[in-house]
Amino acid sequence: MPPPDPLPGTAYGFEKTANRLTAPSYRFRAAAHSSKLNAGGQLSDSVSNQARPQGGSSAPFQVLKVALPSPLRRLFDYLPTRQPPACGWQIGLRVRVPFGRREVVGVVAELANGSELPQGKLRAISEVLDDAPLPNDWQWLCHFAARYYQHSLGDTMQLAMPARMRQGHPMGGRTQTLWLPLSPGDELPLQRAPKQAELYALLRQHPHGLAARAVTAHGFTREQLLALQKKGFARAQEATLTATPYAGGNLLASPSLPLNREQASALAVLHEKLESYHPCLLEGVTGSGKTEIYLQLIEALAAKGKQSLVLVPEIGLTPQTLARFKSRFRVPVVALHSGLTDLERLDVWEAAANGRALVIIGTRSAIFTPLKNPGAIIVDEEHDGSYKQHDGLRYHARDLAVARAHYHNIPLLLGSATPSFESLQQALSGHYRHLRLTQRPSRHPPAKLELIDLRHQRRQGGLLPGAITAIKNTLASGKQALVFINRRGFAPTLACHSCGWIAECGQCDSRMTLHRQPPLLACHHCDSRRALPDACPECGSGDLRALGSGTERTEETLQGLFPNVTVHRIDRDSTRKKESFEQILKEIQRGEPCLLVGTQMLAKGHHLPHVTLVVVVNADGGLYAADFRALEHSAQLLEQVAGRAGRAAHPGRVLVQTLHPDDPHLGQLAEHGYGALARSLLEERRLAMLPPFCFMALLRIESPHEEAATALGQQAAQALQQWLTMVKLPVRCLGPVPAPMERRQNRYHVHIMLAADKRSQRHTAANWLVQWLEANREARKVRWSIDIDPQTLA
Ligand code: ADP
Ligand code: ZN
Ligand code: ZN
Repeated sequence: MPPPDPLPGTAYGFEKTANRLTAPSYRFRAAAHSSKLNAGGQLSDSVSNQARPQGGSSAPFQVLKVALPSPLRRLFDYLPTRQPPACGWQIGLRVRVPFGRREVVGVVAELANGSELPQGKLRAISEVLDDAPLPNDWQWLCHFAARYYQHSLGDTMQLAMPARMRQGHPMGGRTQTLWLPLSPGDELPLQRAPKQAELYALLRQHPHGLAARAVTAHGFTREQLLALQKKGFARAQEATLTATPYAGGNLLASPSLPLNREQASALAVLHEKLESYHPCLLEGVTGSGKTEIYLQLIEALAAKGKQSLVLVPEIGLTPQTLARFKSRFRVPVVALHSGLTDLERLDVWEAAANGRALVIIGTRSAIFTPLKNPGAIIVDEEHDGSYKQHDGLRYHARDLAVARAHYHNIPLLLGSATPSFESLQQALSGHYRHLRLTQRPSRHPPAKLELIDLRHQRRQGGLLPGAITAIKNTLASGKQALVFINRRGFAPTLACHSCGWIAECGQCDSRMTLHRQPPLLACHHCDSRRALPDACPECGSGDLRALGSGTERTEETLQGLFPNVTVHRIDRDSTRKKESFEQILKEIQRGEPCLLVGTQMLAKGHHLPHVTLVVVVNADGGLYAADFRALEHSAQLLEQVAGRAGRAAHPGRVLVQTLHPDDPHLGQLAEHGYGALARSLLEERRLAMLPPFCFMALLRIESPHEEAATALGQQAAQALQQWLTMVKLPVRCLGPVPAPMERRQNRYHVHIMLAADKRSQRHTAANWLVQWLEANREARKVRWSIDIDPQTLA
């Protein structure tokens, strides 16, 4: 049953609007819209039939409309090469074309019988790069994302393909030589060759084969391999680089866990519909065993030869997570993460596209991985902010996952302890199946939040005496404590005690953060840095004071209080080096008593079995913020941090410091948990007609000149208002208003907000606005971008 106004489905065919504009972009979008990208099917060929010669009376001629890396929301016309490719001219072929004075890589998006330009003005394609079109599902998703997010198709495709393909390298899979052991029956010939005997023993440990590279890495030579081969102890075999195809037999490398009752009934619901679109929200408290359900769903699909695409948050794809998936299955599991080289990335893409890889795990952009035999899409921690891209194509990977699961007609599993209000509302209203896990296998329920009053009390490094005592007791009992503080640096403010001067960023409307390691002032909005002043630049006084606490200061305080205990600081500054976070996590997992001080990097997903105390230095960030989503995000964060305590054998405690111990929302969170708070906040959103009960788009305009940004904002809002009235489209238009931080990096930011009750109405209005801006001369003098379903109003 497709939901009434879901992201996918009905929304594919956005209505065509009465539109006065005839910019070329409009025709492109209309054409793309009508090139039936039907669910589960092929890209239909109807486009070429529709295209008629345009531009005069000349005879029709074949034209390839190509999506190129350009922000312009249109396609570019080229003539075919004289010799068509072996597969014929097809939509989805990757081509190299001349573009200005450069050559760029693009994708054929339409076939036409003519162009607005005369034939003589068109240039020909330089080269066809592949011998077949790019995968259909990938093309479909690019079209969908470009249309939904009002973005250029060419730019979307560039983002959605691996760098090697963007650069024009061939797509073909590469192979490597694998060495396999043989049993000749008679091991005598090796007795006088100890090195070869050793190598043979090594190969025996790898019955599925060892790459030649790995053999040399173990200190053996190619000659020794060849000698073994000659004597009949080893053979070489060419294998694809990533994900050797699954040869059949037992799917599992390690047995699945027997499920508890809640897990079993959730899995049973998933099993009801493995063959069709079946969106499910798995709302399970932290540590309740959601991952085990993912694993068993993947197992059921892999048994049918079907692939599962698993999305995890940016900082969730740790080697531990990956190891958990890899150690469960004998089928090929591949991961897309930032540590891969471009070549490895291409290999993973290919392994997914041709069906070799059965499990594909990756962060946000992995949603664009093509799948040969799609079985299910799983989005872990679906509420996580890292699924939303904040520049260029501002897509939300979870939302694209919904659309994609619908397109493929496969199950979709969204998992979270703290579901986004969007997904929760879909579940509460019955559009998604609502699966719930309320218990942890460890039997310790998640700890309740204990609020402690920050008012009128002395703090050390941000910590109240009560918190420090609790930390002391935790260490004394041989356990670990985690101190969560959402600010990196030493102190958020540097102020002069004599005249009240405050260190501010010269380029933004914000204060500079004081850092000690190394000592400097840094703006966390534009990254500009300054040396620490010795004296106040206003009055010359030397009495400069650091106000408030960041991670560095809390670390310093704790180290002073507990000199014999290791204090690990985990934030973006301390983990800049690639491996350092991993190493710290490993050390923490060894279980020695220690203290962790960190930002939200620590809050998410990590299993910290020895942590029994969590202290939140300040819970007030989202309570009274202007952004209507701030409270949702801050409640999610608090619940996730709290979930780090007591996950294993020992119960946990969570202390939350606040200036507002009587705040009703905080009280509800502490008393009844995220689920209860979320449900009552959803009611507030409904009354205020805010998302998920309306659909928004945010237009951001920025310019070094305040007047330019404001003037364009006014013009755009006025034009839109007039048009909305004229076509009687019920869309609310608010603004222009200055952005919450008006000046950032010396640029002025102005916003216009659109809100509508229906997704399609919002789409129509946003689409009109984008075209108006593209056709407007003034708009070329400023920077603007449209954000569909914005996650923040900043
Ligand atoms: P979540 O993904 O909900 O945070 P996990 O899947 O990581 O939870 O499970 C938390 C812990 O509980 C893990 O150590 C996991 O191995 C264990 N666990 C999960 N399901 C079961 C089960 N059915 N029986 C025993 N242990 C389980
Ligand atoms: Zn001063
Ligand atoms: Zn700044």
